[in-house]
Amino acid sequence: MKRLFFKDARCIDREGQTSGPKTLVVENGLIAWLGDEIGDGRRPSGEGRTFFPGPSDEIIPCKGLFISPGLVNLHTHSPMNIFKGIAEDASPDRWFNEEIWPYESKMQGDDVEAGASMAIAEMLDNGVTAFADHYFFADRICKAVHEMGIRADIAPTLFGSVGNMQSQLDGAAALIGEWKGRSPRISLRLGPHSPYTCSPDDLAQCAKMAQALGVGAHIHVEDGEGQVAASLQRWGQTPMEIVSRSGLMDVPLIVGHAWWLLDKERELIKTGTWIAVCMKTYMKLGEGPGRAWALSDDFPLCIGTDGAASSNGLSPIEQVRLLGLVGKYMRKDAEAFPLERLWRILMRGHDALPFGTGSLSAGAPADFLVWDLHRPNTFPVYNPLAAIIYSSDPRNVLHSVIDGRFMKRDGVLLLDTEAIVARAGACAEGIIARGKGRSSLVF
Ligand SMILES: [Zn+2]
Repeated sequence: MKRLFFKDARCIDREGQTSGPKTLVVENGLIAWLGDEIGDGRRPSGEGRTFFPGPSDEIIPCKGLFISPGLVNLHTHSPMNIFKGIAEDASPDRWFNEEIWPYESKMQGDDVEAGASMAIAEMLDNGVTAFADHYFFADRICKAVHEMGIRADIAPTLFGSVGNMQSQLDGAAALIGEWKGRSPRISLRLGPHSPYTCSPDDLAQCAKMAQALGVGAHIHVEDGEGQVAASLQRWGQTPMEIVSRSGLMDVPLIVGHAWWLLDKERELIKTGTWIAVCMKTYMKLGEGPGRAWALSDDFPLCIGTDGAASSNGLSPIEQVRLLGLVGKYMRKDAEAFPLERLWRILMRGHDALPFGTGSLSAGAPADFLVWDLHRPNTFPVYNPLAAIIYSSDPRNVLHSVIDGRFMKRDGVLLLDTEAIVARAGACAEGIIARGKGRSSLVF
């Protein structure tokens, strides 16, 4: 079995600490070794093993480059990549009710797979090694993920208000059963849409089913300020109170947004619940400043991008950059949201997913990036975190490795990008030709 020796790279760990140069050895999809004494072909070392590169191994010179864990996009709707730019300058009300949901009502499985494939290509280019998705026709997303090599945690979207929740749950359970154990790169969970499209009873039913299936859940909560008041009026509880009482926090839970989380709701967040903030969506849809600015460093904030119909891009770096910049601006404090904190927020998504990724250590899955920061946009590198968070773009992601396999090499995606874009183009034409349908959903 061929081993890969990434030789003489400086390493950035998940705390943002830099060390090295070191050599990282990949074997059978895992990091077999990370150390500074091996891989030079002369000095054997290691706990009972040597790591001389043999004739069938490959050395990848990394002098002057940086290795870090991959990036996680903890909340997205990958198929919506196909709607990028279709509903611009629209209020959330118009965006949902007059544009996106009517178009989505006519969406077909092929559109979902084409949009997801294009999203995966974009995410790989941006250094994403794992993402948490939330959409319908989830079987087609599983297929795209399986074929393209990325990791993903996929939640079939469940809309309580448009039909029988039990039949939707049965469909999701069948899909989970079908994919269980089929790929170490794919996990599934339930995706109740939100407390404003699912009743408290629907959410409790989802929590029960998640417990029975031994899976987690992924939901939207409080992306808009008005949702809190509307929920209080309709149910006498805030959206996060409803989620808390439903039992959904008793299973591993990803919450998209919680952007307007009230102070009193913070204590409801249980261990195992992770909040994915998607800064660009809030800015673009005019959702207002939110309440994340006072949260302490140990609050389980992570980074998502939301779908590209609202954020027009799937880069976690862009999202964390905006979070840091707006955080300093809102707090009127340049020392707020320091780089190490932003990096920890970026890396925390690994903990929210069940893949065991995020660590550059022997035995961990070989999911990592090799950054080339010797480029005009990022050089000189006095501070690698500043170069990555405030200056980098996808060209700085030189190599991307997932499950021990190159996804991007020497700055080039190892995919047929042209075919992926052409397929998405054909589906986009079909979407416009079919036009908008009637959606029974109401934002
Ligand atoms: Zn979302």
